[in-house]
Amino acid sequence: MNEKINVFYQAVAKQCSNAHSLRTICELICRNLIQHFSVNHLQLIIKYNKEWKLLLDLNSEGIKYHFPPIVMPKNNEYYYKSIHYYTHKTEASIDIVENHRYLLIPLKHHSIIIGHLTIAVPLTSTLFPKHLIILTSLLAAEIKSIVVKQTTKKNSIRRINTEKELQSSQQQQQSLLNQLQSMHDISFQLWRSNSMKDMLFIAIDEGKKRLKIDRMAIFLFDEQKQMHGTFGTDINGNTVDEFYFSSAIPDQWYATNTLKDKEYIAIQENTPLYHDLQQIGFGWSAYIALWDEDTPIGWIACDNLITGQPLGNYHHQLLKQYGFIVSQHILRLQAADNLIKLNHDLEHRVQSRTQALNKANAQLQKLSRIDALTNIANRRVFDETIIAEWRRAHRQELPLSLLILDIDNFKTYNDKLGHAAGDQCLKTIASVLSKVERRAGTLFARYGGEEFVLLLPGQDQQAAINNAQRLINAMHQLALPFPCLDPNNGKAIVTISIGVSTIIPSQTTTYCDFFKHVDAALYQAKADGKNCFRVHLPN
Ligand code: GH3
Ligand code: MG
Ligand code: MG
Repeated sequence: MNEKINVFYQAVAKQCSNAHSLRTICELICRNLIQHFSVNHLQLIIKYNKEWKLLLDLNSEGIKYHFPPIVMPKNNEYYYKSIHYYTHKTEASIDIVENHRYLLIPLKHHSIIIGHLTIAVPLTSTLFPKHLIILTSLLAAEIKSIVVKQTTKKNSIRRINTEKELQSSQQQQQSLLNQLQSMHDISFQLWRSNSMKDMLFIAIDEGKKRLKIDRMAIFLFDEQKQMHGTFGTDINGNTVDEFYFSSAIPDQWYATNTLKDKEYIAIQENTPLYHDLQQIGFGWSAYIALWDEDTPIGWIACDNLITGQPLGNYHHQLLKQYGFIVSQHILRLQAADNLIKLNHDLEHRVQSRTQALNKANAQLQKLSRIDALTNIANRRVFDETIIAEWRRAHRQELPLSLLILDIDNFKTYNDKLGHAAGDQCLKTIASVLSKVERRAGTLFARYGGEEFVLLLPGQDQQAAINNAQRLINAMHQLALPFPCLDPNNGKAIVTISIGVSTIIPSQTTTYCDFFKHVDAALYQAKADGKNCFRVHLPN
């Protein structure tokens, strides 16, 4: 047997010296095994990519070499055990089945099992695993080297792939960065716009350029579900004013979906494209709704009418993001507009309120100083004025004259003609007598009832007497009919009686005393028959 083994090894060694591939080596070994030891079947399994696989199969059909090794076929016509059976053997062994001896030899490399060789020989054969120690070592070494080589090759392919992946991921990263930068740039410009119109223009004009979209338009909705144009893009790609445009929100799937779902971006591929409701081409169109919290406030529409370029994957995210940014700016400017309007309204209201208040105040002021019936200065004005004039006359040592006028028999007038006629009479007398003395500083006022006063600062007694006479005369001229016959001349008119006094105020008298003097003079006029004036004469 030893002789046989030697011849076998010599043949293998000689033939293999020129062989470079594992396949050739395997085939040479098989042939020599058949030739020298009548081997019928042979199987070689190896560990490849951490799994046990079939590398070599010798059977009645010949030698089959598989690289990369294959999964063990199930329909095995020979006695071969399951992979599990072999791989649990750590040492060589022999199985005898029917008329064959099966040599089961683990292939070891640095004492690690890297394969299993199964050789079937006739029962009569004296071949044992020990005879094949060198052969199995050779096989193990060859197998190991080829697997390592293969792994290296694979790794290098993997490395190339990894590099490619890295490159493409770097490219992707770069394009993402560019998009992010674009988004940031637009955002910055949108922030700088202080009016809604400017902002919308920039959103369209810059949005198209930076997001690489052919046409873009922004529509805003009102509460009646109407959409209104803002800025859009004409068929040549120019940003144009479309504020004239108004239409109902279309009753279409894309409208319904975008307005229901905040995350939804409606994209229609190969769809007719429109401008001003007229079809102008074909391409993709996309709609992204703009939101105020959960309320849709408008949308951005885009398409590829001009270049026909396909919608990029990144466009989805980008457009969604853009929709969000534009929404924020619309809300920001709406809030600012509302604030300005509110301020304006408020200012306007304050202004008109102030005006009304001033008017009311003026009226009130006037009312509080004007007698409502006769429309001349009232008692209050007289009370204030006499104090002021009294002081002034006292300081400047100037004369101060005062006349008190009382309509004669006015009770009778009222009784005969009625209160309304009495009122009318009072108005007429006030109007006429107030115009008798017009010198600056004089005051004609209604003191109360049918009594009037005439205050004459700086006028001496003579001037006061002149005035009294003129007042009496004015009444005669006016000649308002009196309802009772005058027993003297048969024709009666309304007359007045006047008390007159003049004084240069001093420490020893008060204006109240002065008033009493005038009143006393009036009393005297009445007592003297009325329709006359009397001057108070100091005692
Ligand atoms: P004498 O000549 O003594 O002054 O008599 P007289 O009737 O004028 O005096 P008396 O004081 O008795 O009456 C004043 C009347 O003036 C009484 C009142 O009815 C009337 N009178 C006072 N104020 C008004 C007013 O505002 N309207 C009208 N219609 N009458 C007034
Ligand atoms: Mg009176
Ligand atoms: Mg009277």
